[in-house]
Amino acid sequence: MEALRAGQRFVLAGHVKPDGDCIGAQAALAGTLAALGKQVWIYNPDPPEPQFDYLTREFRFRTFDGGALPEHDWTVLLDISELSRCGPLEPVLRAANSRKMVIDHHVHVGPPWWDEAFVDVDCAASGLLVRRIARALGVELDRASALGVFTSLVTDTGWFKYSNTDAETLATAAELLELGLEPARIYGSIYQRQSAELPLALARGLSRLRYHAERRLAVIDLPRAAPGESELVDSDLLLDILRSVEAVEVVLFLREAQAGTCKLSARSKTDYDVQRLAGRFGGGGHRKAAGATIQGSLSEVRERVVAAALEGFSTPAASGGRA
Ligand code: 5GP
Ligand code: MN
Repeated sequence: MEALRAGQRFVLAGHVKPDGDCIGAQAALAGTLAALGKQVWIYNPDPPEPQFDYLTREFRFRTFDGGALPEHDWTVLLDISELSRCGPLEPVLRAANSRKMVIDHHVHVGPPWWDEAFVDVDCAASGLLVRRIARALGVELDRASALGVFTSLVTDTGWFKYSNTDAETLATAAELLELGLEPARIYGSIYQRQSAELPLALARGLSRLRYHAERRLAVIDLPRAAPGESELVDSDLLLDILRSVEAVEVVLFLREAQAGTCKLSARSKTDYDVQRLAGRFGGGGHRKAAGATIQGSLSEVRERVVAAALEGFSTPAASGGRA
């Protein structure tokens, strides 16, 4: 905490394709540090998705496209604990003579490398860690920072559906509403402004569904969109539909991101640990939600990942759609 009080210039860095928790946590920390009179720059390797425009109107999110970073005392990584997931920011952050802080709720593999950390794998969202930090610093959240924390909470808990939703999550959400946030408007901004092609992209994805292990495992492998077809970038809708099947315990969504590179999203409804599965392919995440970026053709990667996933089913099927 002393580091945040003593430092003057902070670069807040996030991961490739920053998600709602990552940019929400950055927004909330930027607001908190600004309230303490600090200089803050938010940098990501990719811009926030357009559905988060209500946040990008409040805070400046810079996309790092080479060049130099401003002189800073502290680099703060949010929602990641490895510089290797910062894309083109990695070498520049490594070379910077700033000290490094990590604010994250993912399982970290390997020895700690940072100067300072706020890591709690049981915390629902990185934005919720920032809420704790703001409170410890004695900073009252303003409306814009509150929007950041709320965005973190709702995107990482699947709008309070997932097992990481706990009393602190809901109590914090209630406090944020007291600050004037309107949940239905935020829901509409994030989830109800998709393109007209989205249902067709979903249908294309669903047509690739295959079950394994007596339907305990559901797998979709999606090749790159053909010309004229839209990419299915946000996979949460698809993952939700697959998880709705009673027999399904684990869901794997494999997407060909570029020729020879596939992106895995894995979700679990039971004790099955998808973080371990993703870890076998160089990825990570949480027990119930994890991902990895895997080199190889879609069919080859599919075969390897399904084989590895099936090895994890050593226990009998969970009875009756246990959560
Ligand atoms: P998603 O499937 O929504 O992309 O990611 C689910 C979770 O897995 C997130 O918490 C995310 O941080 C983690 N994750 C996704 N992709 C990767 C990856 O390539 N490497 C690592 N280490 N974690 C990932
Ligand atoms: Mn997160």
